[in-house]
This record gives sequence, structure tokens and C-alpha cells, in this order.
Amino acid sequence: MKIIVLNCGSSSIKYQLFEMETTEVLAKGVAEKIGLHGSFIKHERNDGIQVKIEGEILDHQAGIEYILGILKSEKYGSIKDFNEIDAVGHRVVHGAEAFKGSEFITEDVIKEMEKCIDLAPLHNPPNLKGIYAMQVLLPDVPQVGAFDTAFHQTMPAHAYMYAIPYSLYKKYGLRRYGFHGSSHRYVSARAAEILKKDISKLRIITCHLGNGASIAAIVGGKSIDTSMGLTPVEGLIMGTRTGDLDVGVLLYIMQKENIDHFNANILVNKHSGMLGITGVSSDMREIETAAAEKNERAILGLDMYYYRIKKYIGSYAAAMGGVDAIVFTGGIGENSPEAREEVCKNMEFLGLEFDNDGNRGKRGKEVIISKPGSKVIAMVVPTNEELVIAKDTEQIVLESLKNK
Ligand code: AMP
Repeated sequence: MKIIVLNCGSSSIKYQLFEMETTEVLAKGVAEKIGLHGSFIKHERNDGIQVKIEGEILDHQAGIEYILGILKSEKYGSIKDFNEIDAVGHRVVHGAEAFKGSEFITEDVIKEMEKCIDLAPLHNPPNLKGIYAMQVLLPDVPQVGAFDTAFHQTMPAHAYMYAIPYSLYKKYGLRRYGFHGSSHRYVSARAAEILKKDISKLRIITCHLGNGASIAAIVGGKSIDTSMGLTPVEGLIMGTRTGDLDVGVLLYIMQKENIDHFNANILVNKHSGMLGITGVSSDMREIETAAAEKNERAILGLDMYYYRIKKYIGSYAAAMGGVDAIVFTGGIGENSPEAREEVCKNMEFLGLEFDNDGNRGKRGKEVIISKPGSKVIAMVVPTNEELVIAKDTEQIVLESLKNK
């Protein structure tokens, strides 16, 4: 079975074509600057052949049409005919309370997804555009939506409720949903596999540290808490997002700087986080370099960054009554031994004997970074959200064929 996974953003489409028998990625790429000047598609086939195609891409449908054209092309393609594509899996950011797992896309499901737009006005509309486009371009091919929020739907009410008037939760669905669900799900399951332990008996803290960052407490394979909330701005400090912030700070800034809702949103999402603190960059590599050169704000930013993660690990260990494994993933979690070492420092009280030598120099691969015999195991597991979406899609499509 061949499955194409699409991740449609406001001006980009990331894609991967999977051969599910082997879970091999046959081709992958990204269309960027859709609807803007200078659109292009970067495509890579699994034999290493790469191409960058420039040309105007007016909208998502046009972008997907180009992508399908490349996938079928003689020179760069991986398929001879579109009927080789058995299904499409879409990453969808917000599924609110309606979606507790991935779903076969029907008109009713699309209606429910459209209702979630209010909660993720920047993310869900482009996700939906990818779905509408595929309905036109490959009308007979089944589609599945995989929601970033779905994995966290197992959170208990005391973890997901905000202490605001209850009527507002009922009226608008204002509660914590959490994101990066496919990533937290994948790395926690993979960690159990690596450790050869039954996930139903494990308490795992997964740290997804990328441009966006979130941390989750997973008991028996189920998320019981996570750091992102109604939107992906809550929780850890991120590249350009504040993470946890006293709402009073935002109200104060809005009043003193005379900024409206639109600009307040940009402030907390685009101008804050590591970029706002350090003034150097939102990119961790550049911040680490600046800190090594004794840039004081870069050093402060890193200290704040590590400290926030540490606090969450402590609070989730308390919430779970202990922890068996701490898993690092995402661009920073997978590639920054410094970040892992700083976060795991002085955690002996928790039962974590961190292995500095085993951690040093390890980038982008599965590795255990606690000492043998450590009660709490620390490890790195590179994430693979696309594979989760592809596998969910395969399973749902096979089930629907069985029931026909
Ligand atoms: P992601 O959003 O998961 O792609 O992660 C992006 C983040 O990972 C950026 O802040 C990068 O600077 C960071 N990153 C990637 N490689 C490294 C590295 N070798 N050392 C530190 N940070 C890295």
C-alpha cells in the first residue's frame, strides 16, 4: 500500500510518500511560498535524486497538483500512475473535543473539522485546504485526518480545565487541548519498545523540543497532562513563543503599549520566547553559539529554557507518582547534548543517574543517556510524526475495506 502524507501550512505543503509494506519513504519534499512571490518545490527521491522546481503556485490545490505531477514524472517520480496511491493522510492541528483519534474523512467529519477553525484560525484552514484539494484531484482515494490534539484527549478534567468561569468552557470549548500528539505518542511507544517493556506499566515524560516545544506525562501509554493548552503558546519557552506567562503581563503590555488583540497575538507567538529574550535568534544552534561566546542574554535565555523544562519534569513526576523514563525528541531534544545535560542535571533525587559521557556528541539517533542501573532512564528517540499518520491512515483504510 502506498500512502501520501500531507502537512499543509498557511504557505507551505510538506509531503512524504510511503511504501507501507516496508515503511520506506519513497519520496518527500516541500512546496513553499504558496500564494507568494518566489514559490518553489524541493523534492527528494529515496535514491538521492533531488530537484528544486521554481514557478508560481497560486494556492494549495495548485501546489498539490504540482507535487502529484512530480511524483508521477518519469525523471523524478516514484509512481507510474495515480491509482498506485492508495490513501492520503493529513496532519490536522486542532480536533478539539470532537476527535479522540485519527478519522476517515467524510462530509460529516469535514463539518466537525470546520467547527474547530475558531480554535486554530491559522492552522486548521490550510489543513482543510489540503483535504478539499485532494477531494478534487484524487476523488476516489480515501483520506484520513490525524489530529495533533487527539492523543491528549485522555487528559482528565482536572488537568485540562482552566480556572475561568465554567460557562466559558461550555460556550467556547476553552480548555487545554495540547499539541504534538503524534510525536508524543510515537516516541513514548518507541521508548517502551527500545526498553523491551510493556507500555501499559510505564510512566513516561516525553520532551518534544523543537521550534515549538511541549512536554507530556504519559501513564500506561495515555497522555494525562501536557504543557500546551488551548493554543500552542502555553508551556515551555519556545523559539518565538512565550510559553507560560502571567496573563497580567499581557494585559499590562496591551494597555501600556496600546496594542490590540491582533498585535498581542503576534507578540506572544512571534516576538517572544528565545528570540525575544536573547535578541540573537529563535534558532537554538545560533543561541548556543552566542552563549559560548559569552553573550549574556543568550546565557540567560538558555538558563530560562532549561529551568522551565526541569520544572515541568518535576511537576509531571509528582503528577504521575514517579517516572520511569524521560524521552527527548524534536530538533533540540535530538541534537543538543548540552540541552539534555542541563535539563537532567541534579536529578539524582528523582532516581536519574545521567550519563554525561554517553550523552556527549550524540545527535539524531536512538540512544540511552542514563547510566546502567539508573532507576529513571533518560533517552533520545528521534520523532517521526509522518510515519504515525501513515500508519493510522493504513489501519483506518484497511478497516473500512473490511467493513465494506
Ligand atoms: P524542529 O522544529 O523540531 O525542526 O527543531 C528546530 C530546532 O532544532 C531549532 O531551534 C534548531 O536550532 C534546533 N537544532 C537543530 N539541530 C541542532 C543542533 N545540532 N544543536 C542544537 N540545536 C539544534
